[in-house]
This record gives sequence, structure tokens and C-alpha cells, in this order.
Amino acid sequence: MGNQVELLVNLQVVDQQLRERTEAIDALRRGLADTESELAAQRQLLDTVRAERADLEAKRRELQGALDDEEAKMKDRRMRLNRIRNEKEASAVRREIEVGKEGNQKIEEDLMVVYEGLDGITTREADVQKDFDALDARRAEQQAKVDAEVVTLSNGLDEARRHRDELANNIEPDLRRRYETIFTKRRGLAVVEVRGGTCQGCHMRVAPQLFNEIQRNQRVIVCPNCHRILYARSETSVSA
Ligand SMILES: [Zn+2]
Repeated sequence: MGNQVELLVNLQVVDQQLRERTEAIDALRRGLADTESELAAQRQLLDTVRAERADLEAKRRELQGALDDEEAKMKDRRMRLNRIRNEKEASAVRREIEVGKEGNQKIEEDLMVVYEGLDGITTREADVQKDFDALDARRAEQQAKVDAEVVTLSNGLDEARRHRDELANNIEPDLRRRYETIFTKRRGLAVVEVRGGTCQGCHMRVAPQLFNEIQRNQRVIVCPNCHRILYARSETSVSA
């Protein structure tokens, strides 16, 4: 049994290296995904601002059109006024001109508001666009970095996994499964040394009679506190 636990210790070294690398790859990809969702949110914001600007542009065209119409009508009224000799008709046209002026003034005021809105939204669009471009550049840079690092981290990973399987094949299936369960549950630390009478996984003291049993290596013993597999190092024992 002692030999089996020694094999587990060696297997754990390889498993920890594999775990470290796959976690590093995952972390890189998560970082990239975060930037990508930030970029998507910024794109949405940009679309919203653009739509707002398009609405204001349409409003501006509409008001400008109304103003042009109104001015054409005004010109026509003034020409009519010049030709009219009848005072009653003339005062009716003058009245029309007054009403028209008021209407024009209202349109001009509305146009002013729209122009102010357009100024604001154009500045805002430029700012949002700038942030978007910066974020997009950051994403591209991060993507290139992640791609390169993933290649480095993945390099030899298949071979390391084959080596891992070779080691694992020498361990009794039940024990191996037990070890793998603990390894996953205990985040990469399933087999721990008892040193100075203490479990190096949870730092709880191990009862002396249990420690003696661990040293005898006749059965697999787990820590009563953290349930990790325990081993004791001796001169002829584990070389990790
Ligand atoms: Zn423990």
C-alpha cells in the first residue's frame, strides 16, 4: 500500500502541473471574454447614441422643410400685398403675414433646440466612439496575447496527459478514483504529508496512533479532519 501512496504523490505532482496550466488558460480566456462583453456593451451604447442623432437629424430636416415652405408662402403674401389696392384685402394679407411670422418664429425656436441637441449628441457620439475604438484596440491586443500564451501553455499538454495516464495506470482503480475525487474537491491537493505530527493539508494534529499506522503503510489513511490521503516521508519513501 505504501508504494501505491508514493505513486499517488508522484501522480499528484503531474496533476497539479496540468491543473495549473489549464487554469491559466481558463483565466486568460475569461479575461478576454470580459473585455468582449465590455466591448459589446459599448457597441450597444454607440448604436443608441447614433440612433438618437439620426432622430434629431430627421427632426431637423422636417423643421427646415417647414421653415422653407413657410418662407415661400411669406414671399408670396408680400408680393400679393404689393399688388393689392383694396384696403380690406390688404389688411387681411397683413394679418396673414403676422400669423405667418409667429409660426416661423415657433419653428425657428424648435430648430434652435434641435441644433443644440445635435451639438450635444455629436460630441457624445465622438466620445463614445473614442472609447469604443480604444476598447476594440485593447481587445485585439488581448486576443493576440491570449492566443500566443495559450499556444505556449498548450505546448506539450497532450504529452503531459499521456504521461499522467501512464502513472495513473499503475494505481489501483478504486484508490485512483478516490484520489481523483479528493483532488477535485480539495482543489488540487489530495495527498498530503504528515509532518511534525500535523496534516499539511489542514494543519490539524494527527493522533500518534494514527501517525504510527501511516508509517506502517498497510492501508490508505485519510485525515480525520480534511479527508485527504496522508503519507509520512522516510529515507526510503517518496521522492516527489
Ligand atoms: Zn487534514
